Amino acid sequence: MYCPFCNIKDTKVIDSRLVSDGAQVRRRRHCNECGERFTTFETALLLMPHLIKSDGRRELFNDKKLLGGINRALEKRPVSIEDIETEVNKLKSKIRATGEREVDAKIVGELVMELLKRLDKIAYIRFASVYRSFKDVKEFGEEIAKLNK
Ligand SMILES: [Zn+2]
Repeated sequence: MYCPFCNIKDTKVIDSRLVSDGAQVRRRRHCNECGERFTTFETALLLMPHLIKSDGRRELFNDKKLLGGINRALEKRPVSIEDIETEVNKLKSKIRATGEREVDAKIVGELVMELLKRLDKIAYIRFASVYRSFKDVKEFGEEIAKLNK
């Protein structure tokens, strides 16, 4: 990385060790140009990215909102809380794995639909009908027909 003192590209790691029980890597760096030393810390970024709404607004990723939508679709369906949690955690790691600080809310919506499709077809149709705002019975039928393929 660049030297924060003189901005030259050529800095060298002179020491590297695990800190905070291995949750962090602390590195001592030395600048070959100006001779300054500095420390960097490396941690896994576990924060969820912000969501970009269709109107361009940014919104904090909201667990409650995500679960709310999923649970509404799954209401009275024979799916265990454990299965839901596992799938939701997978979805969240997928979003985190993008490494992006902002993610299109549409991508999350599509991932939720995939998740529901795996968990319960009825819940999937319920969610899709609201999310894709099916205009009529025909669109509804087309989506169900796709499921049967
Ligand atoms: Zn320097």
